[in-house]
Amino acid sequence: MTDINKKAAPQRLVLEISRSGSWGKVQYSHRLECGHSEYRKRALVTERIACTLCVKAQHARDTLTEIARATTIEYAEPVWVDEIASDIATSETDIGKLRASLASVLGLSAEAIDVVSEYNEDGLKVSYVVVFMDAEQAIRVAGRSKAEIIDI
Ligand SMILES: [Zn+2]
Repeated sequence: MTDINKKAAPQRLVLEISRSGSWGKVQYSHRLECGHSEYRKRALVTERIACTLCVKAQHARDTLTEIARATTIEYAEPVWVDEIASDIATSETDIGKLRASLASVLGLSAEAIDVVSEYNEDGLKVSYVVVFMDAEQAIRVAGRSKAEIIDI
């Protein structure tokens, strides 16, 4: 994501401008209504400026949606409305399996894996997965070779 189209970036209200940096390296942080900050060499006088981080955030959400689509849990049987109770039980089991499998591959406890899912007309769909790691775990996982992970 190096080519952000600033014209496509949404215009956000500037809430606060703060100056930072030493002489010659001064920059102005423009705190925006969306929670992001834009940095410029000069303080802007316009009420609204384009937020490139909003574009990056949208790109990240689109990527997550693509991943979620690719990981939609398939059901062997069609899901019927009057079987919602048993359907939920099956779904919870599938999510449990997904969590356990990810935890095993990453060498983490199941509590470290948060599977966020939602129902749509096709049944349960995994929206995204959040993995919580402390610094030591992150370094350990990052240090593993790809082959080691695949071999598990
Ligand atoms: Zn923003």
